[in-house]
Amino acid sequence: MTLAGLRLEAHYVVTADVDQDFGAGAGPMHSVHEHGVRDVISAMDGSAMDPARASFLLKGSRLIEPSRIPAVACPVVRERSPVDRASAKRIATERLIRKHSPAAPRAGQDGAPRKMACKIGPRSVRITDIRKVLLPKYQLRLKFLKRSYECTLVQNGSEALITESDMYECGACGKDAGKAALLCNSCGAMAHAPKPFGPHSHRCKDCGKTVCGNCAFRAKGALVFKKMLCGQCAGRGPGANRAQ
Ligand SMILES: [Zn+2]
Ligand SMILES: [Zn+2]
Ligand SMILES: [Zn+2]
Repeated sequence: MTLAGLRLEAHYVVTADVDQDFGAGAGPMHSVHEHGVRDVISAMDGSAMDPARASFLLKGSRLIEPSRIPAVACPVVRERSPVDRASAKRIATERLIRKHSPAAPRAGQDGAPRKMACKIGPRSVRITDIRKVLLPKYQLRLKFLKRSYECTLVQNGSEALITESDMYECGACGKDAGKAALLCNSCGAMAHAPKPFGPHSHRCKDCGKTVCGNCAFRAKGALVFKKMLCGQCAGRGPGANRAQ
């Protein structure tokens, strides 16, 4: 496994307090009091990080200050960050308003009167902290047999999360082979699991190893059912190309 590169993505970590009581004539019907809510806004395009990933990253403290770029023995790419602090603040405020404003109950089919929608006002959201950080994304190159795969991972100190990978791409059809992907014992490509008439991968009739469609050989004399062999059992060596 080699470290092929390090990509640094700038994000804003926004911390806020949300306080609002909604009254509806006869006393409050809803109130919001959330303190220390955190949101991660991309400085590249202003998008919000999905909550699961944000909480994963905020758990450890692997987000680094822009002034402290780690020394690594691979190319470091720093992504552009056109979104400024004020815009990030505005985006985070709008998100908090949307998140904490309860949806207006729809007029019931039983003819119940439609209630007023409660919307949090911008003054109820107080940004208490906004910090620009860099998220390091490590690009790794892994090698299985003749194949090399790339994957990108982020870590939070104790755990690592793979964010992008071409590892599950089926070597035969190019589509995502999913979690049930099998590794071809000849070339190291991933492939869809063997199906009776599927071209993606096969189980060798002699040794039982799985091979992808590109590395399987048809056994001689198999007329009705395809009997497939791996390169080794077909006497062509593990690196031989298909000659169905
Ligand atoms: Zn496939
Ligand atoms: Zn193969
Ligand atoms: Zn075999």
